[in-house]
Amino acid sequence: MDAAVDASTSQFELNEEQRAIQEMAQAFAADRVAPNALEWDRAKHFPADVIRETGPLGLGGIYVKDDVGGSALGRLDAVLIFEALAHADPAFSSFISIHNMAASMIDRFGNDEQRQRLLPKLTSMEWLASYCLTEPGSGSDAAALKTRAVKSGDDYVLNGAKQFISGAGDSDLYVVMARTGADGPKGISTFVVPKDAPGLSFGANEHKMGWHMQSTRQVIFEDCKVPAANLLSGEGAGFGIAMAGLDGGRLNIAACSLGGAQSALDKALAYTAERKAFGSKINQFQALQFRLADMETELQAARIFLYAAASKLDRKAPDAGKWSAMAKRFVTDIGFNVANEALQLHGGYGYLHDYGIEKLVRDLRVHQILEGTNEIMRVIIARALIGR
Ligand SMILES: Cc1cc2nc3c(=O)[nH]c(=O)nc-3n(C[C@H](O)[C@H](O)[C@H](O)COP(=O)(O)OP(=O)(O)OC[C@H]3O[C@@H](n4cnc5c(N)ncnc54)[C@H](O)[C@@H]3O)c2cc1C
Repeated sequence: MDAAVDASTSQFELNEEQRAIQEMAQAFAADRVAPNALEWDRAKHFPADVIRETGPLGLGGIYVKDDVGGSALGRLDAVLIFEALAHADPAFSSFISIHNMAASMIDRFGNDEQRQRLLPKLTSMEWLASYCLTEPGSGSDAAALKTRAVKSGDDYVLNGAKQFISGAGDSDLYVVMARTGADGPKGISTFVVPKDAPGLSFGANEHKMGWHMQSTRQVIFEDCKVPAANLLSGEGAGFGIAMAGLDGGRLNIAACSLGGAQSALDKALAYTAERKAFGSKINQFQALQFRLADMETELQAARIFLYAAASKLDRKAPDAGKWSAMAKRFVTDIGFNVANEALQLHGGYGYLHDYGIEKLVRDLRVHQILEGTNEIMRVIIARALIGR
């Protein structure tokens, strides 16, 4: 376990069980993820086998109830897990986070038959899941989505396309928001679509800046038949289900930034203690010491804020949604800045793949964009403040 990560959590009171959860995730990340992360990134390799190894550890349904194999843990526990996994690889951690978001939506909003049929295979990680909200014409304005689902006998027939779907083509189940009614949020429903559904196909893997170990593709529905038994909750409930998933998902993505940025700071501390210039180690220059001091201060502030937001969600505090948005905005901005500063402290070597810093910068950049851009987080926060 990394000493810097251990020390970093000491200001927030974690109980014994939370410490054990954190240590389990840190040990798995150090053993199975960290040694491979750079190669997965370089080769754009999706490590389905290592992802599936997290199932028996209880990471396939972290906050899913235990009657279907979930771990029934809280949101702060989940944040500790994603932070630990992201210290080894933010892209790996983010994929596990999206799978958990999809599984928890089925757990919370599925009926008993759906939960028993779908969740044991998701919590064990035999099946992997993706979350499908964004479309080519609607991202931030998600309620404007156009994918349509029309009831036909015992099925719904879906037509449309989803854009930027993480894990598309690799996942076994797709939690899809589609329109069954009128324009606006009340006309949206949520369906669970299996990979082999007739009429379902996937676009090419996007060439992107980071998150190379997981695919990002379009998910395309052409008269795609989905059994009506796969509709979650009733018609019209879909937008609320999608937003409920994102509330917790945003904390997880923030945790992925935090873990990645802590890794960047740890690397910068080690590098500046070795590298020499002008006859001394570069960590003896006060200008660089002040930068390290600021990085540490900002990361600790981000960590405490994130843990506090996760505790709010665990306690079902009425302002938990605002806190999730604030944490996502604050922690992902700080995380990216810290990683970018760490790259600068490595000089030219920071720009080389082998040092692992440029990957962290690339991976953390997208956290400011997805699961609601940081501008949209400000919209949510401002609405809560102003009372609209
Ligand atoms: C690598 C990657 C993986 C992703 N994975 C998934 C996934 O698995 N599932 C999924 O459903 N989606 C996924 N997304 C999509 C992601 O959630 C969207 O890209 C994001 O929500 C932004 O939508 P957009 O790209 O359409 O941008 P737009 O909504 O077009 O926004 C463009 C710009 O306008 C700003 N803007 C928009 N509206 C406002 C406003 N009201 N006030 C101020 N500024 C505003 C935005 O902040 C942004 O800066 C992924 C994206 C990427 C890049």
